[in-house]
Amino acid sequence: MSGRWSAPPYGQIGPALPQALRLARCQAAGLIRRPVHELPDEADIMEQEISREEERLLVSNAQVVAALEDLFSWRNKDRLSRTSKLSYAESWRFQRALYRMWLLSYLYGMPPPGSARESEEYQGEELERSIPKQKDFLMKFSSRELLQIRYITFFLRTVAGCVSGEFAGSLDVYDFEGLYQFAGPHAILRCYEEGAADPLRVWKFIGDYGPYEGFLTKPLMSILEERKFDVHQNGTPFYKALLDQRNGEDDKCTRCKSVNDAIGMRSGVNLWNETNWDYLRCYYTNLSESVTLSLGKNRTETKLHKALALACKDISRFMHQMFNNKREPYTQWRKADWVCLECLGMFISETIPFWWLDRKQLEG
Ligand SMILES: [Zn+2]
Repeated sequence: MSGRWSAPPYGQIGPALPQALRLARCQAAGLIRRPVHELPDEADIMEQEISREEERLLVSNAQVVAALEDLFSWRNKDRLSRTSKLSYAESWRFQRALYRMWLLSYLYGMPPPGSARESEEYQGEELERSIPKQKDFLMKFSSRELLQIRYITFFLRTVAGCVSGEFAGSLDVYDFEGLYQFAGPHAILRCYEEGAADPLRVWKFIGDYGPYEGFLTKPLMSILEERKFDVHQNGTPFYKALLDQRNGEDDKCTRCKSVNDAIGMRSGVNLWNETNWDYLRCYYTNLSESVTLSLGKNRTETKLHKALALACKDISRFMHQMFNNKREPYTQWRKADWVCLECLGMFISETIPFWWLDRKQLEG
């Protein structure tokens, strides 16, 4: 990129500038619910003048994308770094797919704060009308590019997992994936940063399960099916959709020496120690599930479940407490050791009774 496109703020946005600008332009013009043929096109968007408002949106959107890229890289590329380790090509693929997904959420998903639709009730039937529009929007992309968007949605679903505990027992929400995509990447990042589901609750969409059912996933998968595209890529790992390689992928769990974890993920990228315990809140939304039956079935232990619900709010602190209460066969465990999710789950489950005893003694 040269000339004006390398100057701020464009230089900071990077190679996905056409997609970033398309989102900013649609936001600036308030092009909500419009069909794809009424939208500016990625191909020639750079040829038109950029307004001050578009420039402002470009910068603020880029901050969201950069924060999500850091998180994505840490969780999928290199567990030792909290800032992005993505290569230029990987970063481009990630950002391009994320901006495209964000634009779809902006156009057909949850109305943005301050929009004219703020007070409008969003009905399920409107979503029915929006599914074909979503499909037209997605049809413009190659199957490979759609797979990249799909990988982004998997990542965002894990991030949003940190607040899914707030919907525990709710019969109204059953399509979490649809809800998260409907809300869009910025809302998900806010949930993660604020540790609360409030950004998903705007305009009472929670409890009204129609609006977000199948959002993005349904039209995307139907296109790939129609194109007879092999989503499993003949056994190629899913991450290859966006990443060329992952750092520390072959690292083994210190305890079980396993390379693959229970969900078939190479454990190297999914190993845990004290440096990344805080992210466990995206996996452990309900620690009560880790309570062994004999302890949990006791009716007098409702206090335990309350204490565990509270512990979820600061899971790093909880993990330090776990280590302070470790017993055989875990006495040799060190906080710095990298362990897989399965071993960690067993450790937590078997240590909770001692942790609980300790807390009761502390209370006197
Ligand atoms: Zn293990």
